[in-house]
Amino acid sequence: MPSPYPSESHRKFALHVRQTLHSQLLPLAEAAEARGHLCENAWQTLAEHGLLGLPQRGEGFLQSAVFLEELGALGYAGIRASVAVHAYMASAYLELFGSDEQRERYLPGIHQGRIITALAISEEHAGSDLSQMQCRAESSADGFIVEGGKRYIANGSRAALIVTLVRSGEGQHALGNSSMLLIDGDSPGLLRTARPMLGWSSADVCDLDFSQVAVPACNVLGKSGKALLYLMQGLDFERLVAGLLALGGANHSLRLLDGFVRQHQVQGSPLGDKQSVRHRLADLIGEQQILRHYAYQVAWQHSKGQLDTRSACILKLRATELALSAAQACAQLHGARGYQLNCEVARVYRDAMAGTIAAGASELMRDLIFDSTPAS
Ligand SMILES: Cc1cc2nc3c(=O)[nH]c(=O)nc-3n(C[C@H](O)[C@H](O)[C@H](O)COP(=O)(O)OP(=O)(O)OC[C@H]3O[C@@H](n4cnc5c(N)ncnc54)[C@H](O)[C@@H]3O)c2cc1C
Repeated sequence: MPSPYPSESHRKFALHVRQTLHSQLLPLAEAAEARGHLCENAWQTLAEHGLLGLPQRGEGFLQSAVFLEELGALGYAGIRASVAVHAYMASAYLELFGSDEQRERYLPGIHQGRIITALAISEEHAGSDLSQMQCRAESSADGFIVEGGKRYIANGSRAALIVTLVRSGEGQHALGNSSMLLIDGDSPGLLRTARPMLGWSSADVCDLDFSQVAVPACNVLGKSGKALLYLMQGLDFERLVAGLLALGGANHSLRLLDGFVRQHQVQGSPLGDKQSVRHRLADLIGEQQILRHYAYQVAWQHSKGQLDTRSACILKLRATELALSAAQACAQLHGARGYQLNCEVARVYRDAMAGTIAAGASELMRDLIFDSTPAS
């Protein structure tokens, strides 16, 4: 009987993914954090193991769900963001709305880790409220000329392909006549400026500024002026992906915390002997277990072509907030040793803080959940 929950083969796949990530990617992680981005070797390794071109739709998406949870559980949100923006969030627009020619031009390189992608939507005054978007594309003889800036873009300094949302017509509401453009990373007039963040150090977050950047007509994604339609699908998918990654992040914090309270001694016995500590962990574990079922239920819905805004937002909201609560408990119970600048616990806490902002702030998720709930 078809089931929303991972099957035995998914569990085997999860083990394979975990072993691959731990043996191949983890050894490169600290250098990536220091450098600010993943090295070429890391992208190639992921591609060689078939982890960059996993299905984004259909039944195969459950494999992706397993991969995303494991990627999140690696403990480096910068790496998980970099990989997921590339393999899911940005490339989904190409997979879904790209022409055959565009897909043939870019997808093989994306799956091989040769063409790194970014998704440029947010601006200084258009993060939660995209109707304030200012980045503009004017029609030219052969396509568009883009002028404006995008902010906080993961994979920003390295992306060879930037899926970019622009205002492409007149009107008060920028999204009413907006387009998605495939902007090549070597386009003249594109300036990339590193934007170091508190966490997500290996996510390569940058500002992108476009000064008279020419984009040929063959690089317009789907139909010009119709980006709102594409965003409605793309953003729900992004929330699903962010939720699965954050679930993995919560798993990682809970593992760290569990290991620590069982061995760290306070007043002559393990910290985990204290009732308040056990209860705090039990609450987090309970929520994680419930959320995991919900996450795979939503992934399954998506695999059937039935992902809806409400479910995607509930998952994104609850998973990122659980990841933050777990990281906070982990930091608190580690005492001063968890507050040292370069320790794992502090990194996990810094990383978790961005989860409730990126891909849509928690408050926006709550608004969307309420608005998409039918009146009873
Ligand atoms: C690490 C990181 C990586 C990112 N990567 C990308 C990327 O690759 N591509 C991209 O396009 N963008 C990216 N972003 C940007 C991200 O999508 C935006 O930060 C997010 O949409 C929120 O927008 P904002 O930061 O402009 O906050 P604003 O919209 O200015 O909101 C500020 C705060 O106000 C509160 N708020 C917002 N809406 C409401 C509301 N309706 N009711 C009550 N309170 C509210 C929230 O607490 C919010 O954090 C990234 C952000 C971060 C932190």
